[in-house]
Amino acid sequence: MTKKVLITGGAGFIGSHLAKMLLAKEYEVTVMDNLFTGTKTNIYEMLDNHRFTFILHDVTQPFWGQFDLIYNLACPASPIHYQRNPVETIKTSLLGMMNVLELALKTKARVFHTSTSEIYGDPEVHPQPESYWGNVNTIGTRSCYDEGKRAAETLCADYLREYNVDVRMIRIFNTYGPNMHPKDGRVISNFIMQALQNRDLTIYGDGSQTRSFQYVTDLTEAMVAFMDLEKRTMMEFFKSRGMDIPILNVGNPEEFTIKQLAEETLRQIPESKSSIIYQTLPKDDPRRRKPDITLVNDLLGWKPAVPLQEGIKNAIAYFKGTNLRL
Ligand code: NAD
Ligand code: UDP
Repeated sequence: MTKKVLITGGAGFIGSHLAKMLLAKEYEVTVMDNLFTGTKTNIYEMLDNHRFTFILHDVTQPFWGQFDLIYNLACPASPIHYQRNPVETIKTSLLGMMNVLELALKTKARVFHTSTSEIYGDPEVHPQPESYWGNVNTIGTRSCYDEGKRAAETLCADYLREYNVDVRMIRIFNTYGPNMHPKDGRVISNFIMQALQNRDLTIYGDGSQTRSFQYVTDLTEAMVAFMDLEKRTMMEFFKSRGMDIPILNVGNPEEFTIKQLAEETLRQIPESKSSIIYQTLPKDDPRRRKPDITLVNDLLGWKPAVPLQEGIKNAIAYFKGTNLRL
């Protein structure tokens, strides 16, 4: 029988790729989104598919529906957007997660939660394994996102331990690709848009901070493979690693400084007249970030396939096609 899937936040960047992938695998897909940062443009091509439904709804408000699988992605992910309305951000993580878990408890749905490498904060352990607890400021400007995501992980862990809800989580490391909003504000979309518009590339700080950038389809493949695992087999794997909660880092461990990223962007857009300029580093900006992906590799045989140079080329082609919004 066709499996029914709900994707909260499915009109966003990652959610729209996931919806497309699941439709191609013959699932019946419902996207729920309040369009805070997502757009109908991202799901436009799916709207007339008879296995696709869009619901305009805020996850902080309870909802009902019978689904086999629920992917919880609703939450603004870019610092400029999640800091625009910080109280709403933490509410989305917390109440949204609670509503998803309550629905799953009543309907026996399997839940997938998209957590983040931000739960590691400014890490003192490098690279970051799942066993690392992180270094996060509870009252900084990034905390509405970081702490909301940390609390959502706690909720998932407790619904599993207390009520046996079938939950699994991925900590996503910086992900990029087509369908990012041109004004998303994250570093790859900013640099490409700036280079295409001949505006100077804005490096915050001296550009020596690092990130590890993953192409979006690498991520969605890991998400679907993880969600497809039968619960007992999956739990046995985690128990064999001394863990009682199924959680994986998913990211590309190739680490780049932000300066290297700016240079690579300009190398790939040789017609650009942009230069690099330096601006103030935002508060609590993590110095380094790189995933330890041993666990996901052992469980799913997964490793990223798309190198940064190739992924950036695809992203540039996409952003060029968003001309009207330039
Ligand atoms: P995005 O901003 O493009 O997508 C988020 C989606 O959630 C948008 O469509 C937005 O409209 C929707 N949304 C926000 N608040 C909502 C609410 N209250 N009710 C319903 N919908 C709501 O960001 P993305 O990069 O696609 O991120 C998707 C998920 O993955 C997020 O939960 C994010 O925290 C997580 N994540 C992303 C990254 C990354 O690098 N892209 C890294 C770590 C974690
Ligand atoms: N950054 C930058 N210029 C920009 C946008 C971001 O130098 O125009 C830096 C930012 O300070 C951070 C890194 O790039 O050190 C990644 O930022 P992003 O917002 O993409 O993700 P996050 O900080 O959440 O990892």
